Amino acid sequence: MEANQFREFGKAMIDYTAEYLENIRDRRVVPTVKPGYLRPLIPENAPEKPEKWEDVLKDIERVIMPGVTHWHSPRFHAYYPTANSYPAIVADILSGAIACIGFTWIASPACTELEVVMLDWLGKALGLPEEFLACSGDKGGGVIQGTASEATLVALLGAKARTIAATKKKYPELKESDIVARLVGYTSSQSHSSVERAGLLGGVKLRSLQPDKNNKLRGETVAQAIKEDREAGLIPFYCVVTLGTTSSCTFDCLDEIGPVCNENETWLHVDAAYAGSAFICPEYRYLMNGIEKADSFNFNPHKWMLVNFDCSAMWLKDPSWLVDAFNVDPLYLKHEQQGSAPDYRHWQIPLGRRFRSLKLWFVLRLYGIENLQKQIRTHIGLAHYFEKLVKTDDRFEITEEVLMGLVCFRLKGSNQTNEELLRRINGRGVIHLVPSKIRDTYFLRLAICSRFTEERDIDVSWKEVKEAANEVLNGNSK
Ligand code: PLP
Repeated sequence: MEANQFREFGKAMIDYTAEYLENIRDRRVVPTVKPGYLRPLIPENAPEKPEKWEDVLKDIERVIMPGVTHWHSPRFHAYYPTANSYPAIVADILSGAIACIGFTWIASPACTELEVVMLDWLGKALGLPEEFLACSGDKGGGVIQGTASEATLVALLGAKARTIAATKKKYPELKESDIVARLVGYTSSQSHSSVERAGLLGGVKLRSLQPDKNNKLRGETVAQAIKEDREAGLIPFYCVVTLGTTSSCTFDCLDEIGPVCNENETWLHVDAAYAGSAFICPEYRYLMNGIEKADSFNFNPHKWMLVNFDCSAMWLKDPSWLVDAFNVDPLYLKHEQQGSAPDYRHWQIPLGRRFRSLKLWFVLRLYGIENLQKQIRTHIGLAHYFEKLVKTDDRFEITEEVLMGLVCFRLKGSNQTNEELLRRINGRGVIHLVPSKIRDTYFLRLAICSRFTEERDIDVSWKEVKEAANEVLNGNSK
């Protein structure tokens, strides 16, 4: 394809994209296709001769859209949001044009340097302690990971390296394999599955601790577990605190757990994948009280801060534990400026990395902090609006305090009734929700996901929930 054709194709695709997003409300939120729907719609083999871009564009509605779940529909309330905005989409075009692989500073200096500065901008906008920021001139700094799962694993590997080094120093007679076998980490049974996975991938034990009756992990629970494990000859090394759990958007007691971890030389990682975006609003920062005790902090601008996937922001007080743990230094990756700027390849699992900070730069500049705050406040306001509607109907109960853009609710009654309720809601095809279960109580989660959501959409969602409840409770099989 030549540049002139690219201009035409690109412009047509921009028009299609704007049209798609502005009218997304009119599409059925979850497709009705069955597995294998796509193969018969396209030829068995790739074409020998080039086709026209117009034909490719035409096939989007015919082949792709029938199988798309519209995550940006105001009727999509499942999981947590994934972000989307025009500035981020445009930034991804530029990232695709530059198409550098910024594994070291010299591999594309702007790619590294913009990332360093954007993580400072963002960290300051969230009110993170200075020690996490590169501009503090101390050791700290930020990096963009692909996902929160990677951040949790990377932090675990840093923690592992730190504890192995400290233990070797204290007990030089111990073999590394003996130390690793005795390492133990901690998290709540309510933390995301990626935390358990990080333990498996990192080859260490992670204990799943019980939260309190409000589903929060408490400092005394972590302290007790550490004490028991030390007595059993184990070496506590890592703890993950969640701010905004996936099931119910609950906040662990960071201010209690922080001092326990610090006293016990246990790396504290904070997973705020979804809720972290809310800290851009000063009124929600009380939910991260105690953050100064953490060793690493992570949230996903790609969830709730208008930056398209993938952009998971991670800050570390002392990245040298990662840099040293992951340092392999072949000649072809060395450069003369080594040491005077981050080589991000040491801060992550893969070698290659895209120019993701462009998305942050464009979004921060074209929205400004005030509009990012507005979007968070609007979503939280809409969640409270839905909560209020649920509370007008005494067949229902709210199962968790609504703090962010998630409402957890259920019909008073059995799990089976609520399973049927969800089946009916999703079966009607207008809105889409997923369930969760805590301590054997099954409930429904309604997350405010789309930047297009308005009160009128929440009215539609509530009407759908109520009508499905009528069907379930009146035995109406409509
Ligand atoms: N942590 C929490 C609290 C989450 O809610 C999620 C996903 O929703 C994750 C981690 C995983 O995020 P990612 O897909 O970026 O790995």
